[in-house]
Amino acid sequence: MTLATVSRYDSTRIPEVGDHAVVVGASMAGLCAARVLADGFDTVTVIERDSLPDEPVARRGVPQARQPHILWEAGRITLEDLLPGYSEALLATGGVLIDGRSDLYNYSRGGFLTAGTDPFVLYSATRPLYEQLVRRHVFTLDGVQMRAGCQFTEYLVTDEATVVEGVVIRNRDAEREEISAELVVDATGRTSRTPAWLERHGYTPPPLNEVCIDVAYSTTLIERPADDCRTFTVLAETPRTRGGLAAPVEGDRWLVNLHGVHGDHPPTDTEGFVDFAASLPTPELKRLLVEYPQVSGDIHRYPFPANRRYRYEDLDRFPDGLVVIGDAIASFNPIYGQGMSVAALEALVLHRALANGGREELALRFFDRVAAVIDVAWTMATGADFSFPETEGHRPRGTAFFNWYLSRLFRNAHTDAELTDAFNRVLSMQQPPTSLLHPSVAWRVLRPAG
Ligand SMILES: Cc1cc2nc3c(=O)[nH]c(=O)nc-3n(C[C@H](O)[C@H](O)[C@H](O)COP(=O)(O)OP(=O)(O)OC[C@H]3O[C@@H](n4cnc5c(N)ncnc54)[C@H](O)[C@@H]3O)c2cc1C
Repeated sequence: MTLATVSRYDSTRIPEVGDHAVVVGASMAGLCAARVLADGFDTVTVIERDSLPDEPVARRGVPQARQPHILWEAGRITLEDLLPGYSEALLATGGVLIDGRSDLYNYSRGGFLTAGTDPFVLYSATRPLYEQLVRRHVFTLDGVQMRAGCQFTEYLVTDEATVVEGVVIRNRDAEREEISAELVVDATGRTSRTPAWLERHGYTPPPLNEVCIDVAYSTTLIERPADDCRTFTVLAETPRTRGGLAAPVEGDRWLVNLHGVHGDHPPTDTEGFVDFAASLPTPELKRLLVEYPQVSGDIHRYPFPANRRYRYEDLDRFPDGLVVIGDAIASFNPIYGQGMSVAALEALVLHRALANGGREELALRFFDRVAAVIDVAWTMATGADFSFPETEGHRPRGTAFFNWYLSRLFRNAHTDAELTDAFNRVLSMQQPPTSLLHPSVAWRVLRPAG
């Protein structure tokens, strides 16, 4: 399910669903969930372990925040629907509008993809800025209240644990506090404890799919001339285990990222970082690093051992009053940068599930539908990972064919603008990967190059 197929936001469709909902986790998925819950609940309380800064700076609970975050159009348009004015606010606070046709240089299979002909824009900013603007908007909504600096510790449940009735937190004064709610949303990211909790309370936990890629991302900030919006991507692709990207962000800076899979991890010292960039098949990233000063000497590393997806959609028994969303369900190698867009689309699915049945069997209905959103990003990310023979995990049938097909598509897209357009629509989650198999695309992929 992509932007083309997910039902769009319509606040008039939400009936009164309840008095109080709790969302645990005030990152992108939790904030988007709080936004849609605010239409149906009198009060929505968001519980967050971190203190939330007023400035757009990285915080402890989102350690990936120093890495580049691409916001694809499916995510940006959805955020705009949910939070009108979001895109304008991004630009007003320094976010950069990239014209993909003139500013994006995407290297794959021995060359740059030629510019597409369809409009292809990207709103680029640092991750803390995207999140801060969502947070600001959500906390001005009627009925939404924030409990920052509060750690969720467990669910409140009925005797047989058939219904979740709220949460227990350790509050700012380090005291135990119970908060009742008719609905609790777990948006705690990769560290979600819901699978283990289910098992402890007599439920079958969701089956777990893991695809081990052992990638590490290292990122630094360099200075950028204000009018230079060039954006480079040279993603790792077999047999080359290394890649990188440079994205313009607010404050006249580029985020320059290097990454390496299966243990070929980029260093975090400046000299080693530049050498690693020099080993890429195209010189642009190294040139930027040599030409423009680092904003500070810091190079931040984020290791990402494995894609992880809990198959909640396979369960047929789940407590009432609880839903799981965002990275807590699935987190995938961010090589294609789709997590925030997935979180926004998932919130739309939650909105629809509330509109079409309120709290009745909400979780199972939601998991069932949200699987189709996750499938898109999961297929793309793990498909790329499985092109490396060392990658371990359940390999869906057809992966080898799709990888062969994609690499042919990329080669032909060095000269065929329509192939670039077709791929960009998939990358930005506006169309599903299967759209690349449509005959109008396939003949361009399969015809001899040149
Ligand atoms: C290296 C890297 C690069 C990425 N790049 C991109 C990109 O380019 N584009 C993109 O769209 N996505 C990207 N992502 C993915 C993106 O960061 C996530 O998908 C997105 O943030 C949604 O995550 P989330 O809100 O579900 O969870 P998280 O962002 O992990 O947030 C979980 C929240 O829950 C809070 N929390 C956890 N436990 C508790 C507790 N017990 N009590 C209270 N609060 C708690 C945390 O403090 C945090 O605020 C990237 C991820 C990584 C790792």
